[in-house]
Order: sequence, then structure tokens, then C-alpha cells
Amino acid sequence: MADSTTSGPYPLAEPGLWVERVGRTVFPAGTPALFLDRDGTINVDTGYPDDPAEMVLRADIAAAISAANRAGIPVIIVTNQSGIARGYYRWGDFAAVNGRVLELLGGEGAFVDMVLACAYHEAGSGPLAVADHPMRKPNPGMLLEAAKRLGLDLRRSLIVGDKKADMEAGQRAGLSQGWLVDGQAAVQSGFTVGPWRDREDFNGLLAAIAGLGAVSGER
Ligand SMILES: [Mg+2]
Repeated sequence: MADSTTSGPYPLAEPGLWVERVGRTVFPAGTPALFLDRDGTINVDTGYPDDPAEMVLRADIAAAISAANRAGIPVIIVTNQSGIARGYYRWGDFAAVNGRVLELLGGEGAFVDMVLACAYHEAGSGPLAVADHPMRKPNPGMLLEAAKRLGLDLRRSLIVGDKKADMEAGQRAGLSQGWLVDGQAAVQSGFTVGPWRDREDFNGLLAAIAGLGAVSGER
């Protein structure tokens, strides 16, 4: 496998962890955040995506993100990218694909404030071959790192994802709510999972996002 740890210009906090602050919006300490998985949640999941030209946004996701933008809530991508550990693509490919996703969102008036990506996976080689890395979902490391950097109120934050691992990461980071694409409603240990399957579910998500802004505005 090519050495993906010496990629130079990329915002790598460590060899397998991308942490990128996007834009210049300033958020007050104690704000909640909207966390989003990327593949299968923001963009249609093409399976280890390495080609920016293949990126297509999922329906309505830009509207959810722009609702958070209007509410003054930071929008944070937390994405597992084991394809890098596995040698399928490199950080440079991730940069291109992720840049395209952000560009597509921007075209619909939706803006992301921070991107975290975890490349570690036990099936890798070299320094990225780490089993159960604390930054890899379902572990909560990426959410905790974002919270540390932005001073977030995790309890009031939301996560949207398409896998149970996304919900588990949210629960273990101390969030109270998650929205699971095509999922089932569930409540587990104080964490409420809402499904995102139809228009009614989506309206519920928009209301939850707007509610975060209302609470923040009282600060
Ligand atoms: Mg996903």
C-alpha cells in the first residue's frame, strides 16, 4: 500500500485523522451541533468513493444542512474512511471527493463548518492498521474531538446517519437524539433514534434542528 501518512498539505491531526475547519463562521461556546455521517447520508453511497465525478447528494440533505446554517448551529461531518487504511484510495482522493460534496452542498446554499474523517481500520497496513480505534465510529472520538475544538454542548447536539454505528457514536458521545436514514425508531439508554424515511420524518428533523437554534438564541 502507498504511504498515506505523508500526504503533506492535508489537515491531518494524526496519520489517520483528518480534522478540517471549513469557513469562518464563529460559534459561541456551548452551542449544540448538527453531526452528519457522509456516505449514505449526505451523498449517495457508492462504496469506498474515490471519484468526485460520481458524487450525488441525497434528496433533502441540503435543506437539513441549510436549516442548521440558518439556526446558527455548526454542521460537522464525521466520516469513517477505512478505504484509506485498506489502500483503496489516499487522502488526496478523499480531499477531492469531499471537496466535491461540499461544492454540491454549497450550490444548494448549504454549508459545512467542520469535517472529521477517520482512516484507521484493522484491515489496513502500516500506521493506519489499528483495530477499534477510538476515532472510528461506533466509537465517539470524532464527535468528542469536534466538541473539544468548538466548545460544543453535546447533550443538545444531533447526529444524522445511515448506520447503527453512527447512532452508537452519538449515544456514546452523550448526544440525546439521532436520525437514522431508512431506519427504525428506537430509544436506548436516554438516546432517541428517529427514522428518516419519508417527508413527515424529514419535517421532524427540520423541527428538531430549528429547535436547537431557538434554544441557542436564548443564551
Ligand atoms: Mg454512512
